[in-house]
Amino acid sequence: MTRTRKTPVRSCIGCGRADDKRAFTRIVRTKDGHIEVDPSGKANGRGAYLCPRTACFEAAVSRRRFDAALRVRLHDDDLDRLRRDFEALTDQDATSQQGR
Ligand SMILES: [Zn+2]
Repeated sequence: MTRTRKTPVRSCIGCGRADDKRAFTRIVRTKDGHIEVDPSGKANGRGAYLCPRTACFEAAVSRRRFDAALRVRLHDDDLDRLRRDFEALTDQDATSQQGR
């Protein structure tokens, strides 16, 4: 019997859109409490998903969705770092398809 391939559905914490998890950029809280962009989507830890669009990142920030989704309180410098990583990643996706 073959197993049907199910792709997990996630929703964006910025706009709420639901889609295949691979359509989103994952943000992860690592076990030592760091919040990082997770380009592989496979890092261990509690994750949150965002459309690869700055607008959704900013929506999640302004609605404090990261705090709720990741059970953490993000400081401004964490957000700045995360925003840079997120934008670097989304730019990369837009210009080339050479993912990891
Ligand atoms: Zn979104």
